[in-house]
Amino acid sequence: MEIQHFSHNHPLTPHEEGELKTAVKCSCCDLPISAPFYGCTICNFFIHKSCSELPRELDQLHIFHPIHPLTLLSRPPRNSTTFKCYVCEKSRRGFIYHCSHCQLDLCINCVSLVPPSKNPDEYHQIQLPTHEHPFILCPKDEKFDLSCIDCHLPIEEDSLYLCPICILFFHQSCADPPPKINHPFHSKHPLILLYWTSDCKSISFRCNACGRHGSGRTYHCADCGFNMHVPCSRLMPTVKSDIHQHPLAFFQFYIDISLICQTCDRRLDRPYFRCVECDFSLHLDCCPSLPHFVKHVSHRHYLTITDSPIKDYSDEDDDSEFYCDACEERRNLYDRSYFCAEPECHFVAHIKCLISEVYAYLLPISSMNASIFVFYGCIKLEL
Ligand SMILES: [Zn+2]
Ligand SMILES: [Zn+2]
Ligand SMILES: [Zn+2]
Ligand SMILES: [Zn+2]
Ligand SMILES: [Zn+2]
Ligand SMILES: [Zn+2]
Ligand SMILES: [Zn+2]
Ligand SMILES: [Zn+2]
Repeated sequence: MEIQHFSHNHPLTPHEEGELKTAVKCSCCDLPISAPFYGCTICNFFIHKSCSELPRELDQLHIFHPIHPLTLLSRPPRNSTTFKCYVCEKSRRGFIYHCSHCQLDLCINCVSLVPPSKNPDEYHQIQLPTHEHPFILCPKDEKFDLSCIDCHLPIEEDSLYLCPICILFFHQSCADPPPKINHPFHSKHPLILLYWTSDCKSISFRCNACGRHGSGRTYHCADCGFNMHVPCSRLMPTVKSDIHQHPLAFFQFYIDISLICQTCDRRLDRPYFRCVECDFSLHLDCCPSLPHFVKHVSHRHYLTITDSPIKDYSDEDDDSEFYCDACEERRNLYDRSYFCAEPECHFVAHIKCLISEVYAYLLPISSMNASIFVFYGCIKLEL
């Protein structure tokens, strides 16, 4: 059935997945459109059904701005296409919840964070030793991007802890980590969560899992002197390969790591795989069994892996500056890369710029054990 939406002059008709030839974004949340959705094909205007149902006025004051009501606008009140959300401080496009008294703009992402109960007495909240306000548990839409103030990793779970006064977001597991865990990174002994050293000094350590420095809390084994960041406890050795006898964990953060890659003997200065118990690590791009072909969103052809130096122009010197066409930053001519082999094309990218594409090839070994993944390269999918 057609609907008339306040944000558009023409009636909008319901559409099915697959009816659109090209990828389009939702006018409201600026994320790729997916069914169910409405559209006006005259204007190329599309909106998720769920976004079309957002209330114009919130029926209660919002925890992030509890003094005035917020109104939904289909574009920023000032003449610009983007706005900065007062809560997440990201520059956003699309619909906006606005307070006209304070000229405050909130993105629909942040406004969707609402405690499950309307009664504050029923909020599920915790008091952290290091913060004066309680943190409230809120459900969260998984597609929205917010980062944890503690570990700086994206919050992909379907709930989070937040302090609406200071606008802080925590992973549930970072705000309230279990006091004792068993973890495959140190399978010999259980790990105890420590906040302070035995003489009440704050803790400074090197994380045995990721190799980075840590301070504050650690998962600790006193017998072995093992330490691990709380966020690293969320990683698991799930990648099986012929490189090492144990499954490997994948680490994406790599600043200030003293560990060395077993293959190339160089520092782990980019994403890497690691068996923590054996202290075995290697760069993602040093893996012998990376997929031969991957597809990158910004290029229409499949890219081929190569160890050969690929110049941007054939007449360039070896010591010229070469750039990755995915991130537009410098690349080392002699590093392994993915490139487009079509003669009329030029596209060369860092392996690290294709992590998610490479990762898409890590297929479950079987549906019985979907958490174990294997390298499964060498397949060229036909589009
Ligand atoms: Zn229209
Ligand atoms: Zn926001
Ligand atoms: Zn206001
Ligand atoms: Zn760590
Ligand atoms: Zn131990
Ligand atoms: Zn390496
Ligand atoms: Zn191992
Ligand atoms: Zn190409």
